[in-house]
Amino acid sequence: MKPFRYARADDVTGAVALLAGSPNGAFLGGGTNLVDLMKLDVATPDLLVDVRRLTSDQVEELPGGGIRIGAATPNSELAAHPLVRGRYPVLSQSLLSGASGQLRNLATAGGNLLQRTRCVYFQNVTTPCNKRDPGTGCSAIDGYHRELAILGTSSECVATHPSDFAVALAALDATVHTEGPAGARRIPMAELHRLPDGEPHRDTVLAHGELITAIEVPALSFGTRSRYRKVRDRASYAFALVSVAAAVDVADGTVRDVRIALGGVAHKPWRATRAEELLRGGPAREDRFRAAAEAELAQARPLPGNAFKVPLARNTLTRTLLDLVDGPA
Ligand SMILES: Cc1cc2nc3c(=O)[nH]c(=O)nc-3n(C[C@H](O)[C@H](O)[C@H](O)COP(=O)(O)OP(=O)(O)OC[C@H]3O[C@@H](n4cnc5c(N)ncnc54)[C@H](O)[C@@H]3O)c2cc1C
Ligand code: SF4
Repeated sequence: MKPFRYARADDVTGAVALLAGSPNGAFLGGGTNLVDLMKLDVATPDLLVDVRRLTSDQVEELPGGGIRIGAATPNSELAAHPLVRGRYPVLSQSLLSGASGQLRNLATAGGNLLQRTRCVYFQNVTTPCNKRDPGTGCSAIDGYHRELAILGTSSECVATHPSDFAVALAALDATVHTEGPAGARRIPMAELHRLPDGEPHRDTVLAHGELITAIEVPALSFGTRSRYRKVRDRASYAFALVSVAAAVDVADGTVRDVRIALGGVAHKPWRATRAEELLRGGPAREDRFRAAAEAELAQARPLPGNAFKVPLARNTLTRTLLDLVDGPA
């Protein structure tokens, strides 16, 4: 591992200033992803600025019924919080489906959103990878890509974003609050992560030194009827092959409103807007759920090794909606 300096700042402004003056520095949350990548020489920061004590580590209720999650809130505390479990089961389920109990105790809400892809070539410095080393090529497209993307891919990168939490936040129309060298920003969750076109090395729209301070989740009247379903190679401690975060408002057999995001299929959490549009106002029936899923996945461009994800995503989305409609409100 390359030598690095460790620093703490007194406040958010100080932390942002420290990184602004250090082009190769990085913020340190729980370190559960960043330190692993440093051990592999994939990440080689010369300065780590510890941000765990700078932002809130609490969940607060907002006046309109939403919640505000401090960026330093540990994943385990967030998943167990009564407001999260009560109002947004999909959020709690997404967090509990990720990593292990020990990792969730250390991992922070902010760090979770910015974890890097699990593409095996990204993690192996001896292989070409446009994300790790821009311009060297993509080893996955003609190589091993079973876990990688089917939607929004480019000829430069087919990586998937690995966070389960981010998928649930995308479905819930959350907003990410940041503080950076250019001031404060509020970024809709759907716009935080990018598709790989043009700049596959950039996972998000954040600037260097831009700190996530909080995440706000707006009130959702049917948030209680929400679910996260994750399909993976083993029952725990594995990343999603495909996941679905969904919330449905059903009355008299009609879908009044719906929110859907897919995970494990793209370089970012994939908000299924085509499926949502087809479902709104229509009957809450299996054939309609399947047709909506097929419409969303019509834009998929799978590779030979991950074509199985297209029917898997269709079936997982259909099953999740059926469970929500059939289950208790
Ligand atoms: C074996 C294993 C299995 C896992 N399985 C899953 C899984 O199934 N699903 C899942 O979703 N996750 C999984 N994870 C990933 C885990 O959830 C992440 O490692 C964790 O959430 C990252 O949080 P952290 O606070 O430790 O981030 P760090 O490792 O500290 O940081 C991650 C990145 O975020 C940046 N950063 C940290 N905080 C901030 C901030 N506030 N503002 C701006 N930048 C910041 C860092 O600079 C770094 O680039 C797994 C991890 C491991 C090791
Ligand atoms: S898919 Fe992306 S991360 Fe993986 S090898 Fe290709 S460029 Fe690198």
